[in-house]
Amino acid sequence: MTRRALIAGNWKMNMLRAEGEALAAALASGLKPGMAADLLVCPPATLLAPVSAVLAGSAVALGAQDCHMRDSGAHTGDIAAVMLKDLGAAYVIVGHSERRADHGEDDATVKAKAGAALAAGLTPIICVGETEAQRDSGEAEKIVGGQILGSVPDGASQSGIVIAYEPVWAIGTGRTPTVDDIAAMHAHMRHVAGRMLDGAGALRLLYGGSVKPGNAAEILALEDVDGALVGGASLKAEDFLAIAAAVA
Ligand code: PEP
Repeated sequence: MTRRALIAGNWKMNMLRAEGEALAAALASGLKPGMAADLLVCPPATLLAPVSAVLAGSAVALGAQDCHMRDSGAHTGDIAAVMLKDLGAAYVIVGHSERRADHGEDDATVKAKAGAALAAGLTPIICVGETEAQRDSGEAEKIVGGQILGSVPDGASQSGIVIAYEPVWAIGTGRTPTVDDIAAMHAHMRHVAGRMLDGAGALRLLYGGSVKPGNAAEILALEDVDGALVGGASLKAEDFLAIAAAVA
């Protein structure tokens, strides 16, 4: 089963309009025809509309960093998945560890958000990952497997969702697991997800956590790694494009 790689940029809470538009324009024009990966940017909500306008007609896809679990209603400050779709988004990140930590999102919340994304016609990128203490105590696979079982919505299909393995201790730290550890975790994830999705040969599994041009090739070459979720290095067009170019 060939899975097309996805290189997703999570801009987090960074950039004002002019910078975001310039970065999107640089990515759209820097994308080489025949590239082996799909490119996706996930700007903050304030930049979705202007970045969507810049990316129109380009092969760079647009995604959001979060959505609410309901379509409308009295939820001040929240944004529904259908609203993101309306703006031109194709993907939405759900369950990022920063949201799990900062906003107390648990697996049930993430599952409901991913379900709302699917219902709106978006592809949810469901994030999972262990803390450093959990890895040190040998629980990483158990934690990540449990997060998958708790966060993947009922009725999801293999090609309708993406799961990103992001060890919490590797995000923004410059540290990464060994390639053997990433390979083992991704094989485990495919096994666990396969039990829920009736196979997982078509499911895209991303690795995230301090991916940069210097380490992208060895990570992206792993059999069960189908792309990357990139934070810091996605804020520079040159670095993000170099990561995408590392997909063989
Ligand atoms: C992220 O926040 O999803 C991420 C992977 O960040 P970084 O690449 O900066 O570690």
